[in-house]
Amino acid sequence: MFKKISLPTQIIIGLVLGLVFGLVIIKFGLDPSFTLDFIKPVGTIFINSLKMIAVPLVFASLVIGVSNLGDISKLSRIGGKTLFAYLVTTIIAISVGLLLVNLLRPGESLPQSTRDNLLSLYDDTVGTKASQAAQVNQQGPLQPIIDMVPENIVKAAADNGSMLQVVFFAIIVGIALLQIPKEKARSFTSFFDAFNDVIIKIVEYIMLIAPYGVFALMASLIVEIAGENPDSAVELLFALAKYSLIVIGGLVLVVAGVYVVILKSFTKLPVKDFFKAIRPAMLLGFSTSSSNATLPVTMRQVENEIGVSEEISSFVLPLGATVNMNGTSLYQAVAAVFIAQALGMDLTLSQQLTIVLTATLAAIGSAGVPGAGLIMLIIVLEAIGVPGAGVALIIAPDRILDMFRTVVNITGDAVVCVAVASTEGELPDGLIRQSNPFTPNL
Ligand code: ASP
Repeated sequence: MFKKISLPTQIIIGLVLGLVFGLVIIKFGLDPSFTLDFIKPVGTIFINSLKMIAVPLVFASLVIGVSNLGDISKLSRIGGKTLFAYLVTTIIAISVGLLLVNLLRPGESLPQSTRDNLLSLYDDTVGTKASQAAQVNQQGPLQPIIDMVPENIVKAAADNGSMLQVVFFAIIVGIALLQIPKEKARSFTSFFDAFNDVIIKIVEYIMLIAPYGVFALMASLIVEIAGENPDSAVELLFALAKYSLIVIGGLVLVVAGVYVVILKSFTKLPVKDFFKAIRPAMLLGFSTSSSNATLPVTMRQVENEIGVSEEISSFVLPLGATVNMNGTSLYQAVAAVFIAQALGMDLTLSQQLTIVLTATLAAIGSAGVPGAGLIMLIIVLEAIGVPGAGVALIIAPDRILDMFRTVVNITGDAVVCVAVASTEGELPDGLIRQSNPFTPNL
Protein backbone atom coordinates (compact mmCIF):
# COMPACT_ATOMS: atom_id res chain seq x y z
CA MET A 1 0.00 0.00 0.00
CA PHE A 2 2.94 2.29 0.85
CA LYS A 3 4.86 1.44 -2.33
CA LYS A 4 4.46 4.69 -4.26
CA ILE A 5 4.85 7.00 -1.29
CA SER A 6 8.38 8.23 -0.56
CA LEU A 7 10.02 7.08 2.67
CA PRO A 8 10.00 10.45 4.44
CA THR A 9 6.28 10.77 3.68
CA GLN A 10 5.69 7.22 4.94
CA ILE A 11 7.45 8.12 8.15
CA ILE A 12 5.40 11.25 8.59
CA ILE A 13 2.28 9.14 8.03
CA GLY A 14 3.53 6.55 10.57
CA LEU A 15 4.19 9.32 13.04
CA VAL A 16 0.78 10.92 12.67
CA LEU A 17 -1.05 7.58 12.72
CA GLY A 18 0.87 6.47 15.82
CA LEU A 19 -0.04 9.69 17.49
CA VAL A 20 -3.70 9.43 16.59
CA PHE A 21 -3.73 5.76 17.61
CA GLY A 22 -2.21 6.51 21.00
CA LEU A 23 -4.53 9.43 21.61
CA VAL A 24 -7.60 7.38 20.62
CA ILE A 25 -6.64 4.64 23.10
CA ILE A 26 -6.34 7.20 25.84
CA LYS A 27 -9.34 9.31 24.94
CA PHE A 28 -11.71 6.36 24.80
CA GLY A 29 -10.18 4.65 27.79
CA LEU A 30 -9.34 1.49 25.78
CA ASP A 31 -7.18 -1.26 27.24
CA PRO A 32 -3.52 -0.34 26.55
CA SER A 33 -2.23 -3.92 26.86
CA PHE A 34 -2.55 -4.65 23.11
CA THR A 35 -0.42 -1.59 22.34
CA LEU A 36 2.16 -2.54 24.94
CA ASP A 37 2.31 -6.25 24.08
CA PHE A 38 2.10 -6.14 20.29
CA ILE A 39 2.85 -2.66 19.02
CA LYS A 40 5.59 -1.49 21.36
CA PRO A 41 7.89 -4.43 20.43
CA VAL A 42 8.03 -3.18 16.82
CA GLY A 43 9.44 0.09 18.13
CA THR A 44 11.87 -1.76 20.39
CA ILE A 45 13.08 -3.86 17.45
CA PHE A 46 13.56 -0.67 15.43
CA ILE A 47 15.68 0.96 18.16
CA ASN A 48 17.63 -2.25 18.79
CA SER A 49 18.51 -2.60 15.13
CA LEU A 50 19.75 0.97 15.07
CA LYS A 51 21.92 0.21 18.08
CA MET A 52 23.06 -3.08 16.52
CA ILE A 53 24.84 -1.33 13.67
CA ALA A 54 26.17 1.61 15.69
CA VAL A 55 29.64 0.17 16.36
CA PRO A 56 30.39 -1.17 12.85
CA LEU A 57 28.96 2.00 11.32
CA VAL A 58 31.15 4.30 13.37
CA PHE A 59 34.24 2.21 12.92
CA ALA A 60 34.00 1.71 9.17
CA SER A 61 33.00 5.25 8.29
CA LEU A 62 35.70 6.81 10.46
CA VAL A 63 38.48 4.60 9.13
CA ILE A 64 37.43 5.46 5.58
CA GLY A 65 36.98 9.15 6.46
CA VAL A 66 40.48 9.50 7.89
CA SER A 67 42.13 7.44 5.20
CA ASN A 68 40.36 9.56 2.56
CA LEU A 69 42.85 12.23 3.55
CA GLY A 70 45.20 10.49 1.14
CA ASP A 71 48.90 11.22 1.40
CA ILE A 72 49.45 13.20 4.60
CA SER A 73 52.55 15.09 3.52
CA LYS A 74 51.12 16.14 0.16
CA LEU A 75 47.75 17.14 1.43
CA SER A 76 48.67 18.39 4.87
CA ARG A 77 48.24 22.07 4.00
CA ILE A 78 44.83 21.71 2.36
CA GLY A 79 43.86 19.01 4.84
CA GLY A 80 44.83 21.21 7.79
CA LYS A 81 42.81 24.14 6.48
CA THR A 82 39.83 21.98 5.67
CA LEU A 83 39.79 20.17 8.99
CA PHE A 84 40.24 23.46 10.83
CA ALA A 85 37.27 24.97 8.97
CA TYR A 86 35.19 21.86 9.59
CA LEU A 87 36.05 21.88 13.27
CA VAL A 88 35.34 25.58 13.74
CA THR A 89 31.98 25.44 11.92
CA THR A 90 31.00 22.34 13.90
CA ILE A 91 31.82 23.98 17.23
CA ILE A 92 29.96 27.16 16.23
CA ALA A 93 26.92 25.09 15.20
CA ILE A 94 26.94 23.21 18.53
CA SER A 95 27.24 26.49 20.41
CA VAL A 96 24.26 27.96 18.52
CA GLY A 97 22.24 24.84 19.41
CA LEU A 98 23.26 24.94 23.07
CA LEU A 99 22.48 28.63 23.32
CA LEU A 100 18.98 28.21 21.88
CA VAL A 101 18.04 25.12 23.87
CA ASN A 102 19.29 26.63 27.13
CA LEU A 103 17.47 29.89 26.49
CA LEU A 104 14.18 28.41 25.33
CA ARG A 105 14.19 25.25 27.51
CA PRO A 106 11.72 23.17 25.47
CA GLY A 107 11.92 20.13 27.78
CA GLU A 108 11.09 22.06 30.89
CA SER A 109 7.56 22.82 29.81
CA LEU A 110 6.71 19.24 30.80
CA PRO A 111 4.77 18.94 34.03
CA GLN A 112 6.42 17.09 36.89
CA SER A 113 4.03 14.14 36.55
CA THR A 114 5.07 13.57 32.92
CA ARG A 115 8.73 13.76 33.90
CA ASP A 116 8.18 11.26 36.68
CA ASN A 117 6.46 8.96 34.20
CA LEU A 118 9.35 9.28 31.75
CA LEU A 119 11.92 8.73 34.48
CA SER A 120 10.19 5.57 35.62
CA LEU A 121 10.22 4.30 32.01
CA TYR A 122 13.99 4.62 32.00
CA ASP A 123 14.34 3.83 35.66
CA ASP A 124 17.09 1.20 35.58
CA THR A 125 19.29 3.15 33.24
CA VAL A 126 18.77 6.43 35.07
CA GLY A 127 19.67 4.76 38.35
CA THR A 128 22.94 3.31 37.10
CA LYS A 129 23.80 6.48 35.22
CA ALA A 130 23.21 8.59 38.31
CA SER A 131 25.62 6.45 40.31
CA GLN A 132 28.11 6.50 37.43
CA ALA A 133 27.82 10.29 37.32
CA ALA A 134 28.51 10.45 41.04
CA GLN A 135 31.64 8.34 40.50
CA VAL A 136 32.79 10.61 37.68
CA ASN A 137 32.61 13.59 40.00
CA GLN A 138 35.23 12.01 42.22
CA GLN A 139 37.69 11.35 39.40
CA GLY A 140 40.71 13.44 38.36
CA PRO A 141 40.55 16.12 35.65
CA LEU A 142 42.25 13.96 33.01
CA GLN A 143 39.86 11.04 33.47
CA PRO A 144 37.81 11.83 30.31
CA ILE A 145 40.99 11.59 28.23
CA ILE A 146 42.05 8.37 29.99
CA ASP A 147 38.57 6.99 29.31
CA MET A 148 38.94 7.61 25.59
CA VAL A 149 41.77 5.10 25.29
CA PRO A 150 40.43 1.54 25.39
CA GLU A 151 42.41 -1.14 27.16
CA ASN A 152 40.54 -3.73 25.13
CA ILE A 153 38.96 -2.74 21.81
CA VAL A 154 36.70 -5.78 21.64
CA LYS A 155 35.33 -4.98 25.08
CA ALA A 156 34.88 -1.34 24.08
CA ALA A 157 32.94 -2.41 20.99
CA ALA A 158 30.78 -4.74 23.05
CA ASP A 159 29.99 -2.14 25.66
CA ASN A 160 27.38 0.39 24.57
CA GLY A 161 28.79 3.20 26.66
CA SER A 162 32.28 3.00 25.16
CA MET A 163 31.63 4.41 21.71
CA LEU A 164 34.21 7.14 22.25
CA GLN A 165 36.86 4.45 22.64
CA VAL A 166 35.75 2.94 19.34
CA VAL A 167 35.95 6.40 17.74
CA PHE A 168 39.45 6.86 19.14
CA PHE A 169 40.61 3.48 17.87
CA ALA A 170 39.09 4.06 14.42
CA ILE A 171 40.90 7.41 14.07
CA ILE A 172 44.21 5.80 15.05
CA VAL A 173 43.64 3.00 12.53
CA GLY A 174 42.85 5.61 9.83
CA ILE A 175 46.01 7.59 10.57
CA ALA A 176 48.18 4.46 10.66
CA LEU A 177 46.71 3.42 7.32
CA LEU A 178 47.97 6.66 5.82
CA GLN A 179 51.47 5.93 6.97
CA ILE A 180 52.04 2.38 5.81
CA PRO A 181 53.04 1.61 2.19
CA LYS A 182 50.19 2.38 -0.23
CA GLU A 183 50.10 -1.13 -1.75
CA LYS A 184 49.61 -2.68 1.65
CA ALA A 185 47.05 -0.10 2.73
CA ARG A 186 45.03 -0.60 -0.45
CA SER A 187 43.63 -4.02 0.40
CA PHE A 188 42.68 -2.81 3.87
CA THR A 189 40.95 0.33 2.59
CA SER A 190 39.10 -1.49 -0.15
CA PHE A 191 37.86 -4.01 2.42
CA PHE A 192 36.60 -1.22 4.64
CA ASP A 193 35.15 0.58 1.65
CA ALA A 194 33.06 -2.48 0.90
CA PHE A 195 32.33 -2.99 4.60
CA ASN A 196 31.13 0.59 4.82
CA ASP A 197 28.81 0.04 1.86
CA VAL A 198 27.42 -3.10 3.50
CA ILE A 199 26.68 -1.18 6.67
CA ILE A 200 25.05 1.63 4.74
CA LYS A 201 22.89 -0.97 2.98
CA ILE A 202 21.82 -2.36 6.36
CA VAL A 203 20.92 1.16 7.48
CA GLU A 204 18.73 1.36 4.37
CA TYR A 205 16.98 -1.86 5.40
CA ILE A 206 16.39 -0.52 8.87
CA MET A 207 15.00 2.65 7.41
CA LEU A 208 12.45 0.52 5.56
CA ILE A 209 10.85 -0.42 8.84
CA ALA A 210 11.18 3.14 10.11
CA PRO A 211 7.53 4.09 9.35
CA TYR A 212 6.29 1.12 11.38
CA GLY A 213 8.90 1.67 14.06
CA VAL A 214 7.94 5.32 14.37
CA PHE A 215 4.24 4.39 14.48
CA ALA A 216 4.89 1.88 17.26
CA LEU A 217 7.13 4.19 19.23
CA MET A 218 4.73 7.07 19.00
CA ALA A 219 1.66 5.00 19.89
CA SER A 220 3.29 3.21 22.83
CA LEU A 221 4.99 6.36 24.09
CA ILE A 222 1.69 8.20 24.19
CA VAL A 223 -0.09 5.30 25.88
CA GLU A 224 2.69 4.77 28.40
CA ILE A 225 3.35 8.31 29.44
CA ALA A 226 -0.27 9.36 29.41
CA GLY A 227 -0.95 6.81 32.15
CA GLU A 228 -3.64 8.18 34.37
CA ASN A 229 -3.28 11.66 33.00
CA PRO A 230 -4.06 12.14 29.27
CA ASP A 231 -3.04 15.78 29.40
CA SER A 232 0.59 14.83 29.86
CA ALA A 233 0.67 13.24 26.37
CA VAL A 234 -0.43 16.52 24.89
CA GLU A 235 2.22 18.30 26.94
CA LEU A 236 4.88 15.95 25.57
CA LEU A 237 3.75 16.60 22.00
CA PHE A 238 3.88 20.31 22.63
CA ALA A 239 7.41 20.00 24.02
CA LEU A 240 8.45 17.89 21.00
CA ALA A 241 7.07 20.52 18.61
CA LYS A 242 8.98 23.23 20.47
CA TYR A 243 12.14 21.12 20.38
CA SER A 244 11.78 20.52 16.62
CA LEU A 245 11.28 24.23 15.94
CA ILE A 246 14.40 25.05 17.96
CA VAL A 247 16.47 22.59 15.91
CA ILE A 248 15.13 24.02 12.65
CA GLY A 249 15.58 27.62 13.86
CA GLY A 250 19.19 26.87 14.84
CA LEU A 251 19.86 25.32 11.44
CA VAL A 252 18.49 28.40 9.69
CA LEU A 253 20.72 30.61 11.86
CA VAL A 254 23.80 28.59 10.90
CA VAL A 255 23.04 28.88 7.18
CA ALA A 256 21.96 32.52 7.18
CA GLY A 257 24.58 33.65 9.68
CA VAL A 258 27.70 31.49 9.78
CA TYR A 259 27.76 30.32 6.16
CA VAL A 260 27.01 33.73 4.72
CA VAL A 261 29.79 35.31 6.82
CA ILE A 262 32.29 32.65 5.65
CA LEU A 263 31.35 33.14 2.00
CA LYS A 264 31.60 36.91 2.29
CA SER A 265 34.89 36.79 4.21
CA PHE A 266 36.74 34.32 2.02
CA THR A 267 35.32 34.65 -1.49
CA LYS A 268 33.89 37.22 -3.87
CA LEU A 269 31.16 34.82 -4.84
CA PRO A 270 27.74 36.52 -4.49
CA VAL A 271 25.86 34.66 -1.75
CA LYS A 272 22.78 34.38 -3.97
CA ASP A 273 24.81 32.73 -6.73
CA PHE A 274 26.25 30.23 -4.28
CA PHE A 275 22.84 29.11 -3.09
CA LYS A 276 21.48 29.05 -6.63
CA ALA A 277 24.37 26.82 -7.69
CA ILE A 278 24.01 24.30 -4.91
CA ARG A 279 20.22 24.30 -4.70
CA PRO A 280 19.88 20.92 -6.49
CA ALA A 281 22.21 19.36 -3.91
CA MET A 282 20.26 20.94 -1.07
CA LEU A 283 16.99 19.56 -2.43
CA LEU A 284 18.49 16.12 -2.87
CA GLY A 285 19.87 16.26 0.67
CA PHE A 286 16.40 17.11 1.93
CA SER A 287 14.68 14.26 0.13
CA THR A 288 17.32 11.57 0.69
CA SER A 289 18.50 12.63 4.18
CA SER A 290 21.90 11.39 3.13
CA SER A 291 25.09 13.38 2.64
CA ASN A 292 26.62 10.34 0.94
CA ALA A 293 23.82 10.00 -1.58
CA THR A 294 23.99 13.72 -2.30
CA LEU A 295 27.78 13.85 -2.67
CA PRO A 296 27.99 13.32 -6.46
CA VAL A 297 25.53 16.17 -7.03
CA THR A 298 27.28 18.46 -4.53
CA MET A 299 30.56 17.83 -6.35
CA ARG A 300 29.07 18.42 -9.76
CA GLN A 301 27.40 21.68 -8.74
CA VAL A 302 30.45 23.05 -6.93
CA GLU A 303 32.74 22.20 -9.85
CA ASN A 304 30.49 23.05 -12.79
CA GLU A 305 28.40 25.90 -11.47
CA ILE A 306 30.89 27.63 -9.18
CA GLY A 307 34.13 26.58 -10.87
CA VAL A 308 36.03 25.05 -7.95
CA SER A 309 38.93 22.94 -9.24
CA GLU A 310 38.45 19.19 -9.15
CA GLU A 311 41.60 18.76 -7.07
CA ILE A 312 40.05 20.72 -4.22
CA SER A 313 36.47 19.50 -4.51
CA SER A 314 37.35 15.83 -4.79
CA PHE A 315 39.27 16.03 -1.55
CA VAL A 316 37.23 18.51 0.52
CA LEU A 317 33.72 17.27 -0.30
CA PRO A 318 34.01 13.49 0.26
CA LEU A 319 35.85 14.16 3.50
CA GLY A 320 33.12 16.60 4.49
CA ALA A 321 30.36 14.11 3.68
CA THR A 322 31.86 11.82 6.32
CA VAL A 323 33.30 14.13 8.96
CA ASN A 324 31.62 17.54 8.63
CA MET A 325 28.06 17.53 9.89
CA ASN A 326 27.21 20.96 11.22
CA GLY A 327 23.48 20.29 11.11
CA THR A 328 23.86 16.95 12.88
CA SER A 329 26.10 18.38 15.60
CA LEU A 330 23.68 21.25 16.29
CA TYR A 331 20.80 18.79 16.45
CA GLN A 332 22.70 16.46 18.81
CA ALA A 333 23.43 19.32 21.20
CA VAL A 334 19.79 20.45 21.24
CA ALA A 335 18.48 16.89 21.53
CA ALA A 336 20.84 15.95 24.39
CA VAL A 337 19.85 18.97 26.46
CA PHE A 338 16.18 18.53 25.58
CA ILE A 339 16.20 14.90 26.76
CA ALA A 340 17.98 15.87 29.97
CA GLN A 341 15.42 18.64 30.56
CA ALA A 342 12.54 16.30 29.82
CA LEU A 343 13.89 13.80 32.34
CA GLY A 344 14.27 16.57 34.89
CA MET A 345 18.07 16.26 34.95
CA ASP A 346 19.96 19.54 35.39
CA LEU A 347 23.11 19.84 33.33
CA THR A 348 26.15 21.56 34.79
CA LEU A 349 28.49 23.81 32.80
CA SER A 350 31.04 21.02 32.55
CA GLN A 351 28.37 18.67 31.19
CA GLN A 352 27.51 21.30 28.57
CA LEU A 353 31.20 21.52 27.65
CA THR A 354 31.26 17.74 27.40
CA ILE A 355 28.41 18.09 24.90
CA VAL A 356 30.61 20.39 22.77
CA LEU A 357 33.38 17.78 22.77
CA THR A 358 31.27 14.68 22.31
CA ALA A 359 28.87 16.20 19.78
CA THR A 360 31.91 17.23 17.72
CA LEU A 361 33.22 13.66 17.83
CA ALA A 362 29.77 12.18 17.35
CA ALA A 363 29.14 14.34 14.27
CA ILE A 364 32.54 13.32 12.89
CA GLY A 365 31.64 9.69 13.54
CA SER A 366 28.15 9.92 12.00
CA ALA A 367 28.02 8.43 8.53
CA GLY A 368 26.30 10.48 5.85
CA VAL A 369 23.24 8.25 5.80
CA PRO A 370 19.71 8.64 7.12
CA GLY A 371 19.39 8.27 10.85
CA ALA A 372 23.13 8.10 11.61
CA GLY A 373 22.99 11.24 13.75
CA LEU A 374 20.37 9.68 15.99
CA ILE A 375 22.54 6.65 16.71
CA MET A 376 25.54 8.80 17.50
CA LEU A 377 23.43 10.91 19.83
CA ILE A 378 23.66 7.99 22.25
CA ILE A 379 27.38 8.79 22.72
CA VAL A 380 26.58 12.35 23.69
CA LEU A 381 23.89 11.22 26.13
CA GLU A 382 26.03 8.55 27.76
CA ALA A 383 28.91 11.01 28.12
CA ILE A 384 26.78 13.40 30.18
CA GLY A 385 25.17 10.69 32.27
CA VAL A 386 21.75 10.82 30.57
CA PRO A 387 20.32 7.37 29.73
CA GLY A 388 20.98 6.51 26.09
CA ALA A 389 17.49 5.02 25.95
CA GLY A 390 16.26 8.61 26.19
CA VAL A 391 16.60 8.82 22.38
CA ALA A 392 13.21 7.11 22.34
CA LEU A 393 11.79 10.46 23.40
CA ILE A 394 12.90 12.32 20.31
CA ILE A 395 12.85 9.51 17.79
CA ALA A 396 9.38 10.37 16.50
CA PRO A 397 10.17 13.68 14.80
CA ASP A 398 13.70 12.56 14.04
CA ARG A 399 13.28 11.55 10.45
CA ILE A 400 11.86 14.96 9.60
CA LEU A 401 14.65 16.77 11.42
CA ASP A 402 17.11 14.49 9.61
CA MET A 403 15.95 16.04 6.33
CA PHE A 404 16.65 19.55 7.56
CA ARG A 405 19.98 18.78 9.21
CA THR A 406 21.24 16.93 6.14
CA VAL A 407 20.66 20.04 4.03
CA VAL A 408 22.84 22.00 6.46
CA ASN A 409 25.46 19.22 6.51
CA ILE A 410 25.99 19.31 2.77
CA THR A 411 25.70 23.09 2.52
CA GLY A 412 28.45 23.36 5.15
CA ASP A 413 30.70 21.07 3.09
CA ALA A 414 30.14 23.19 -0.01
CA VAL A 415 30.77 26.46 1.87
CA VAL A 416 34.08 25.18 3.27
CA CYS A 417 35.01 23.78 -0.15
CA VAL A 418 34.48 27.13 -1.87
CA ALA A 419 36.30 29.01 0.91
CA VAL A 420 39.30 26.64 0.81
CA ALA A 421 39.37 26.87 -3.00
CA SER A 422 39.44 30.65 -2.77
CA THR A 423 42.33 30.65 -0.29
CA GLU A 424 44.20 28.28 -2.61
CA GLY A 425 43.55 30.44 -5.68
CA GLU A 426 41.48 27.60 -7.14
CA LEU A 427 38.33 29.55 -8.00
CA PRO A 428 37.67 31.41 -11.25
CA ASP A 429 39.52 34.75 -11.17
CA GLY A 430 36.67 37.08 -10.33
CA LEU A 431 35.53 34.97 -7.40
CA ILE A 432 38.77 34.87 -5.41
CA ARG A 433 39.02 37.29 -2.55
CA GLN A 434 42.65 38.44 -2.89
CA SER A 435 42.63 40.22 0.44
CA ASN A 436 42.13 37.12 2.53
CA PRO A 437 45.14 36.11 4.60
CA PHE A 438 45.44 32.64 3.12
CA THR A 439 45.56 33.58 -0.55
CA PRO A 440 49.01 32.87 -1.99
CA ASN A 441 50.67 35.92 -3.53
CA LEU A 442 50.94 34.85 -7.12
N1 ASP B 1 21.42 12.07 7.60
C1 ASP B 1 22.56 12.85 7.95
C2 ASP B 1 23.48 12.98 6.75
O1 ASP B 1 23.52 12.14 5.92
C3 ASP B 1 23.30 12.30 9.11
C4 ASP B 1 22.40 12.37 10.30
O2 ASP B 1 22.40 13.42 10.97
O3 ASP B 1 21.67 11.44 10.57
O4 ASP B 1 24.17 13.96 6.62
